[in-house]
Amino acid sequence: NVNVPERIDYVFKVVVIGDSAVGKTQILSRFAKNEFCFDSKSTIGVEFQTRTVTIGGKLIKAQIWDTAGQERYRAVTSAYYRGALGAMVVYDITKRQTFDHVARWIEELRAHADTSIVIMLIGNKGDLVEKRAVRTEYAVEFAEEQGLFFSETSALSGENVESAFFKLLQHIHFVVS
Ligand code: GDP
Repeated sequence: NVNVPERIDYVFKVVVIGDSAVGKTQILSRFAKNEFCFDSKSTIGVEFQTRTVTIGGKLIKAQIWDTAGQERYRAVTSAYYRGALGAMVVYDITKRQTFDHVARWIEELRAHADTSIVIMLIGNKGDLVEKRAVRTEYAVEFAEEQGLFFSETSALSGENVESAFFKLLQHIHFVVS
């Protein structure tokens, strides 16, 4: 179908942030390519991946940005957030510290991103049930207080990744239209 041009109605920029190694790149690959790569981290330099979806009869190109390792040096720049309509703030359900840092990432968003940005909190690595260190109810409560959408995902199994992105994109569509 290379001859059929896509008639894109909207391009939505979404940024994925959170501590290093929580699974940001894998979540993105799962959504964009339905892949999980066991030996990743050649991601330095990769800026974004896209996937086109249909929402409310509109063709929406989701342009999903990866920090590409910048967060390790606390060097996520304001350019990264520019024009973002949505954000996924990811923590690792097996690492309490990554959840404790979520508030800092939200502050970062409030400082650099548009005030109308739609934010979703993601507890990733849901497949590692026996290593859980952050209770679901605790995260739900935090998300409610902060006015964030919330989902627990597994980039490894793919569980909830698709539905989380769709929920976010649907809400962005609702906000912009
Ligand atoms: P990033 O630094 O936040 O982009 O994290 P990566 O996507 O590079 O993932 C960090 C590590 O966690 C890698 O070894 C991944 O294979 C692993 N990982 C990512 N997502 C999951 C998941 O959902 N479940 C499990 N068990 N491991 C994951």
